[in-house]
Order: sequence, then structure tokens, then C-alpha cells
Amino acid sequence: MTLTLTLSQPVPYRVYTLDEPRRLVLDFREVDWAGVSEELFAEAKALTSVRFGGFRPGWSRMVAELGGAFTLRSAEMSRDDQRGTAVLTVVLDTSDEATFADRAGPPKGDVWPDPVASLPRKQTGRVLVVLDPGHGGIDPGASREGQTEKELMLAFAREIEEELRRLPNVDVLLTRTDDNFVSLERRVAMAHQAEADIFISLHADALSEGHAHGATVHTLADDATDEASALLAERHDRADMLSGTDLTGQDDVVADVLLDLARQETQPRTERLAKAIVGGLEIKGAPLNRRPYRAAAFSVLKAADIPSILLEIG
Ligand SMILES: [Zn+2]
Repeated sequence: MTLTLTLSQPVPYRVYTLDEPRRLVLDFREVDWAGVSEELFAEAKALTSVRFGGFRPGWSRMVAELGGAFTLRSAEMSRDDQRGTAVLTVVLDTSDEATFADRAGPPKGDVWPDPVASLPRKQTGRVLVVLDPGHGGIDPGASREGQTEKELMLAFAREIEEELRRLPNVDVLLTRTDDNFVSLERRVAMAHQAEADIFISLHADALSEGHAHGATVHTLADDATDEASALLAERHDRADMLSGTDLTGQDDVVADVLLDLARQETQPRTERLAKAIVGGLEIKGAPLNRRPYRAAAFSVLKAADIPSILLEIG
């Protein structure tokens, strides 16, 4: 199978595959996706769920699910000297599952610059609130009538940040401040690194899951309180994965047990946080769901020692 992609100019890039589910990932430096559409790959039937957008500052990503065990044979960029454009040609071979699994994974020794390293830390005597605008970049979240959840939630986070900064002793950190993809794992890592006191993830996509109107506050639980919450958590994790997060080598049973213990200690504080937010919304007369307290296995709420909630504004 051969894929070609025309770009306005030659740019640095990398191409690789990921397993579970099988995906083809193309990363580009400084690519403007305006004018690129999903139909681009229409003839390549083995590719589905094509998505593209910002991934890291200065980098864009395109991810597609592979309809079979296709391994990468070659990826070459050629330049059209007259037009100044470039064509990326990717050749994939049909292979077997074992070969695919063996070759899948990001290129070795090629790590993204880690923005976590330069985060501000919590100051003594001050409260650090981490606001987490849902989705971003390649993962738009819910969309309706030209508006996307990722844009709405960033604007919403900015507004809350401004309000919170007026309070004495409160500092605020946003997990993303632009339209770039931030993995769920990284969001949690940022809260940890900054030694956050509170973590609030902001979302607005419950309606597509059949919730009634009004805000809900979600906390972490292995067993979801209701099917809509379970689906919401599942879909968020899936969007994260499809955007290119590599989950290989992340299941550590011992660490899980220890984390569960820590979470049990944090649980009462998380419940107080959820109550305070629901109470605050009530006082302000904000539209609230009939059953505002919900729980599900949201990956973004898995910081064991930081009270974390997901506010779904309905
Ligand atoms: Zn969302």
C-alpha cells in the first residue's frame, strides 16, 4: 500500500506504527493543516479514523488506524523544485501480527522535549490549583455547530484562572495554554511535578453520551456510577490513545496496588472538593444535573495524592 501526501514545503518528519490498536503515525515539523482533509486518504481503505492537528509546540501529527498488520517499508520526502512543494511517499507492506507487534513503537533515542521539566512549583503557604482544559490539538473533543470542546474548554479555563488569581494565596497552572495535544498521563504528571493541591479537569461533551442537561462532577472509581459516565471515561481514554500515546510497558501491578492505597487516603479530600464545586455551582444558580455526583475510571483523575475531579459543564 502506498500513501502520498503533498505538503506546501519540505519539512522534518518521522513515520512509525503503534500497536493496540494498530496505527500509523506521521509527525511533521511546522505543518499547516489548513486545506488537508480526511478525504485525502479516501482511496486507502486500510486507513480509518484519520485525524490530524497540533501535537507539541511546533510539531503536528497525523494518525490513522490501520485495517491490518501493515509494516512500514519506506517513507521518503521528495521536493518539487518548481513549485517548492514536497511529496511524502509512505510504503506499507502486508505482514503478520507478530512482525507488526515487533516493529511497532516510536523511533528509539528520539524523545520529545519534556515541558514538564520547566514547570513552576507550589510555593509554601499558597494553594496551587491545576486547571486541565480537556482535549487539544489533534484531539478536538466534542464538536457542534463549528465549535469544539478543546477551544471552549481553553477559554473557560482562562476565565476561571483569572477569577482564581484574584484570590489571595491561590496560584493557578494550566495543563495546556494553546491548541496542542497533551496526553492524559502528562496532564497528571504536570500536577504531580508542580505539587498541586487540587486538580480540575474541564470538559463539555456529556450531551453526546445521553446525559440530561446540566453540570456534573466526576470523581475516580473503578466501577462507574452510570453507563454514560463509563462511556465518557472510555471515550476520553480512547481519544488519548488514538492521538498517538504509546501505552506499552505501563502496566505495573505492584505500583497499582500502592497507588490504590494512596488514593484511599486522598478520597475524603476529593469528595470534599466535589461537594464544594457542586455547592458553588448551586449557589451561583448554574444549571446542574439532577444527579450531579458521578464517578468512573477517568485516566486523567489518577493522581493518587492530589484531590482530582472532572467538571463536565453539560
Ligand atoms: Zn471531553
